[in-house]
Amino acid sequence: MGQRPIDAELRTIILDLRVPKRAGCVCLPTSPERSRLMARVRQKRTGPELLVRKATHRMGLRYRLNRTDLPGSPDLVFPKYRIALFVHGCFWHQHRGCSRCTMPKSNEAYWRQKFAENRARDTRAIRKLRRLGWKCCVVWECEAMNATLLADRLKQFFGEAL
Ligand SMILES: [Zn+2]
Repeated sequence: MGQRPIDAELRTIILDLRVPKRAGCVCLPTSPERSRLMARVRQKRTGPELLVRKATHRMGLRYRLNRTDLPGSPDLVFPKYRIALFVHGCFWHQHRGCSRCTMPKSNEAYWRQKFAENRARDTRAIRKLRRLGWKCCVVWECEAMNATLLADRLKQFFGEAL
């Protein structure tokens, strides 16, 4: 399998990190957060998303990756069922009520804005996909990491189709 290009959102974050710190500018993440970001970038290819791929494959569901031509570039697309699936990191996409959904202590204004933008982007993408006739599913990172929970979620999404 070829290397998966980093999605637009992560690319933006990486570019953000590359911006040199200007005098008086406190909008950039501090060092521990930077390493956290980098960990998330790596995780995108190896963590929750991979678990979702494996689980759906085991269920006999065939997907396509990297449909960058679709709004929001869904992580997995199931053309047969016209289902677009997103695997959302609980931190980045602020999974409400989840223990992974934390607010960094430093640069809180920066993070609040970043999270609000992420959420707005998610909502826009899902609305556009629905208009194009796609059913949209979100699997949260914390759900993907729990095999039972993940199986339940997938059954819920693909229920009638399976
Ligand atoms: Zn969560």
